[in-house]
Order: sequence, then C-alpha cells, then structure tokens
Amino acid sequence: MNKELINRLIEEAKEIASRNFCCTHSNFTVGAALLTNEGKIYKGFNIENDGIQSICAERVAFAKALSEDNQKFTCIAVVGKKLTAKEFKKTLPCGYCRQFMSEYVDKDFIIYTYDDIENKLYTYSLNELLPESFNL
Ligand SMILES: [Zn+2]
Repeated sequence: MNKELINRLIEEAKEIASRNFCCTHSNFTVGAALLTNEGKIYKGFNIENDGIQSICAERVAFAKALSEDNQKFTCIAVVGKKLTAKEFKKTLPCGYCRQFMSEYVDKDFIIYTYDDIENKLYTYSLNELLPESFNL
C-alpha cells in the first residue's frame, strides 16, 4: 500500500470523525475510512443513542459499502479522539467490529490507525487483532 493512499485514508477518517454529531454519550468520536479493491472509499463515524443500539464507525463504513454491493476490501483506517481534543489517538476496532469485519475480509486485511501526539502510524493485519475468529 503506498504511503500517499494510507495518508489519504487517515485524513478521510479524521475528516468524518470531525463532523460527528452522534457521539454525545461517550464524547469520543471515531472515524473510519474503508478502501475497496476498486479504490472506492466508504467512511463512517460512531453513532450513539440512548438505547444500547450504538454503532461503531467501522461497521457504519462496512454497512454503507456492503449495502451498495461492494464486497471486496483492502484495508481500513480508524482514528479517534475526545470531542474536546485536537489530536487523534491510536484507536483500534472493538472486539465486535473485529469479528464483524472478519466475516467480510481476508485474514491479511489491514487496519491502520494514527496517533497525532506520537506522530506515528500503526499497522495491523486482522489476523493479528483477531487470531481465532468465530466461523460457522
Ligand atoms: Zn466497534
């Protein structure tokens, strides 16, 4: 994956996270930018509500892509920060999202996250984050 594309995904994830108006329960905004094999980018932010039906940014991005008939994915960038913070911090998919993603991607699917304070990009394969996923 070329560096420019990774940077673009990180910036897209930050951009959508910065527009999040649905995370007033946690006051923590997460942005995700999902890249398809055809080079299309689907973005999502975490959507929270008063019940227990909140949706993470990663699954929002996947749901948008899947519902538009995109089924092959290369990687996803995820970033998060407190609403009051300027800097994004290293943010990785929760367990639920890891399992969800594992049902639509290969084990070598890549997850990127970026920490503004450390000025560092982190790269993981899904297999590293979820070595033993549930399968039927
Ligand atoms: Zn999640």
